[in-house]
Amino acid sequence: MAFTTIAQKVVKVGAFNYYPAIFKDSDGIVKGFYTDALKALGDKENIKFIYVYGTWDEGLERLKNGQVDMLTSVAMTESRLEYMDYTNTPLLTVWSEVYVKPKSEINGILDLHNKTIAIMKSDMNGSYLKNLTTKLSVNCNFIETSDFDEVFKLISENNADAGVVNNTFGAAKSQGYNLRSSGIIFNPFDIFITVKKNRHTELLNLLNSYLHEWKHDPNSVYNISRIKWSHKNIGAIEIFPAWVKKGFYITLTLLIVLFVFVVLLNYKVKIATEKVKYSERLFETFMANTPAYVYIKDQTLHHLYQNRMVDMLNTSSPTNKNSSARTIFDTVTAGYIEKADREILSGKTTQTNLQYECVLNGRKMWLHDYKFSFQLPDGQAAVAGISFDITNLKQTEAELRNAKIKAEESDRLKTAFLANMSHEIRTPMNGILGFAQMLHDDELDKETHDQYLNIIETCGERLLNIINDIVDISKIEAGLMPVELVEFELTHHLEHLYKFFSPEATSKGIKLIYNHPTPELNPVIFTDREKFYAIFTNLIKNAIKYTVDGEIEFGYTKNTDDYIFYVKDTGIGIRKEMQTAIFERFIQVENTIKNGVAGTGLGLSITKAYIEMLGGNIRIESEPDKGSTFIFNLPAKRM
Ligand code: ADP
Repeated sequence: MAFTTIAQKVVKVGAFNYYPAIFKDSDGIVKGFYTDALKALGDKENIKFIYVYGTWDEGLERLKNGQVDMLTSVAMTESRLEYMDYTNTPLLTVWSEVYVKPKSEINGILDLHNKTIAIMKSDMNGSYLKNLTTKLSVNCNFIETSDFDEVFKLISENNADAGVVNNTFGAAKSQGYNLRSSGIIFNPFDIFITVKKNRHTELLNLLNSYLHEWKHDPNSVYNISRIKWSHKNIGAIEIFPAWVKKGFYITLTLLIVLFVFVVLLNYKVKIATEKVKYSERLFETFMANTPAYVYIKDQTLHHLYQNRMVDMLNTSSPTNKNSSARTIFDTVTAGYIEKADREILSGKTTQTNLQYECVLNGRKMWLHDYKFSFQLPDGQAAVAGISFDITNLKQTEAELRNAKIKAEESDRLKTAFLANMSHEIRTPMNGILGFAQMLHDDELDKETHDQYLNIIETCGERLLNIINDIVDISKIEAGLMPVELVEFELTHHLEHLYKFFSPEATSKGIKLIYNHPTPELNPVIFTDREKFYAIFTNLIKNAIKYTVDGEIEFGYTKNTDDYIFYVKDTGIGIRKEMQTAIFERFIQVENTIKNGVAGTGLGLSITKAYIEMLGGNIRIESEPDKGSTFIFNLPAKRM
């Protein structure tokens, strides 16, 4: 709708200080949500609104005498109806509100008795309070001011105890003056836009047509501006006392702090729990992999802790918490362990080392148990310990001990051997030197001369044998004896040996027999010729040496992999307890020495060493006074 029928396009509006509806800003311009709304209307309808600023009282006067055309924020009273026309729709519903300083004791209407109260001149709110106090016989001293700002100023500067303003102004400005609502509110009333009576009907109609939309549309220029100027405070009633608000904020802050604290605590607990879990896992893994049995026992000797003893018990199953020495070990061992445990628990000693042999899971083993006193976190005495499996250590220890005994024995034998050797060497040497000397005698007959020469030869041979044996055993011991495998015609060489030893046996009255199972064949083996001869020579010579009468038989048989050779005699035989020892170096059976049969005790150990070098083994079957059979094998196939 256009404002075309209205001749004047300038409308004078009486303005006064009613923040934030209409007021003069520090730059001297009249502003407020009324002016914003009127500006929008003016732009649309081509009307210029000019503001004539003064007090509220002056504004009323100016309208009365036609100096202004229009007023905003006018409550409806009978006297005003006489000189103003009101718009149909009130723009704002407001009420009166008494404001005081924050620490004031005024909380109800009766508290106003004998108090100085600031009111705005000709203001509805002030006159209503005056009536109210008079009715209630509350005696007050009223100071009149030109506008609401003055009212607030008087209170904040302690020139008035309280002041009454319109709630729209109060809500917007009380904070700035550091005032609070006293809670005394009354007289709700509507305020309107008015024009001078009977002079501006069309302007009134135009305003009416806009007002409805302004008031009810939340996005209308009026409502948006109202919210902007009042900082959303307009029309708000302080339902909650300040302390409740304060309390609410304190509680909210405390709750936030508490929440943050709980979250932080949760986080810290989580981290601490993870740390504890990690160190628990670390401990468990370490203990599970410790190659020792670790335990803690309480005063009743029951286990409070045991690691898994994986290696020790040779099992991956977890150990039983209720197990004790008595359930694990035999009675004697358990008693031994318990005694040591009790000595520690009674404080008799603080630590002890035990070593014992026992059977665990059917396995014989040696344990080294280091026990020590241990205090539980609750102060109770306990015994803790670490048990190591020292079975291997003990075995090595035993082996070392045996080796030591052997070394001592060998040393003793060597000493005896050297003594024997010197005797063995000196005897033929004496023979050689003695008879050689006697050969110088020119008067010796031929027969005696030849006899001496024979003796010298025999002694020389014996000496050579002894020296050969010593050289051979030294080479074997030093690992310098070479093995040279060649094709070897068995039958041929055994026959040769037979022919070679037959005269010696016969001369002793012993029958030498060579027994060959396959006379028509001449099997070929791969072996070391020299050593093969040395083996048989040694065995046959021994047989002749230790046989007084009877017979000596040698030969071989064959199984899948080996040729089995034997030399059997009907000689003096060897006692059971000596049957292993004779293969050791320098060992001679005592009675054979007593029998006066010469020897060094090296022949069989050389023989055994040679057989083993050629891939075989030797053993003996013998009975004293009945005879001996030496049996050995050599591989049939090439090694
Ligand atoms: P020795 O040079 O003393 O004969 P050996 O090592 O050949 O040395 O033999 C060790 C010992 O074994 C001999 O001293 C002897 O007591 C015993 N012995 C060896 N062969 C026979 C045998 N055929 N009959 C009885 N005792 C034997």
